Amino acid sequence: MTRLSAVTPSGHAQLGNYLGAIRRWACEGAPDDLYFVSDMHAMTTAYNPQRLRALSREMLAILIGSGIKPESVFVQSDIAAQLSTLSWVLECTCTFGEVARMIQFKEKSAGAKTVRLGLLTYPVLMASDILLPGADEVPVGDDQAQHVELARALARRFNTTYGEAFVVPQAVTPKVAARIRDLADPDRKMAKSTRNETGVVFVLEDADMIRRKFQRAVTDTAGRVEYRPDEQPGVANLLEILSACTGQSPKTAAEGIGSYRELKETVADAVIEELRDVRKRTQDLLADPAELDRIRATGAERAAQRGEHRLSSVLRLAGIA
Ligand code: ATP
Ligand code: MG
Repeated sequence: MTRLSAVTPSGHAQLGNYLGAIRRWACEGAPDDLYFVSDMHAMTTAYNPQRLRALSREMLAILIGSGIKPESVFVQSDIAAQLSTLSWVLECTCTFGEVARMIQFKEKSAGAKTVRLGLLTYPVLMASDILLPGADEVPVGDDQAQHVELARALARRFNTTYGEAFVVPQAVTPKVAARIRDLADPDRKMAKSTRNETGVVFVLEDADMIRRKFQRAVTDTAGRVEYRPDEQPGVANLLEILSACTGQSPKTAAEGIGSYRELKETVADAVIEELRDVRKRTQDLLADPAELDRIRATGAERAAQRGEHRLSSVLRLAGIA
């Protein structure tokens, strides 16, 4: 059984990525699971190539620094040749209507002066990511469920039209995990590509900066440290972050904390502690480029090997090899 998950290097990894995804991948990952840095997905809108290269490398180091087994991790573009080849076959299996009606495409292209073709075909590349290694399960949020549905449809269509080549994957809803919100705007989820960084805590940020961001976190005027998500979203977010670090429920975490100031200090301490080892291991890796290159090359080789056989059958069945 293979589960496949990815993180796009569209910015520096933030606390929500860690508490909501990466940390879980590190402790729940099974030996056959795959985790990758989806750098090719970061190209569908304007981006800076140097920054993308650096962010991809940093994200790879964070995944490994977080404790995910190096042999389960790879960078998407390291198998770009296989993925692009498969994508062409799948583009010729997919219809224009199918990609044009994707909700995410409609949202992201709405009002844009120019739209990259890759923004339209991105779900087909994602189908290649999933189908090449024969992933059985893809844990995704609602926003990506439609894309996994497309991957399923393409797998079935290819299998019935040309011959059995693909595992038909399943979208699975990840276990309820912390959904961390922006410290400066608790109505919005924390995200790495958010422009205003005052409410976003980054995994590699130094302790002083993390503390300062928590000190400035938006709360309310109720003056009560209680877990009431609807009435006090800012305070609830801080309690949820604390809870994700300590393992207590947010309600229990609130007990004994007298003021917002104390709450902010307590959460900052817990987050700094939670990230300490990850930061240390990640920084050690980033400081040893040869070791990181070696890990990266091994992951790439394994990922390529894994897809090799399936890609050759696909090309054969499709009549081009
Ligand atoms: P972007 O701004 O580029 O969308 P992002 O921070 O939302 O970046 P994604 O690459 O979309 O990150 O998601 C990577 C993983 O992190 C996914 O599994 C997603 O569910 C999880 N994740 C992202 N943000 C949060 C958050 N605020 N709380 C919990 N989990 C999160
Ligand atoms: Mg996102």
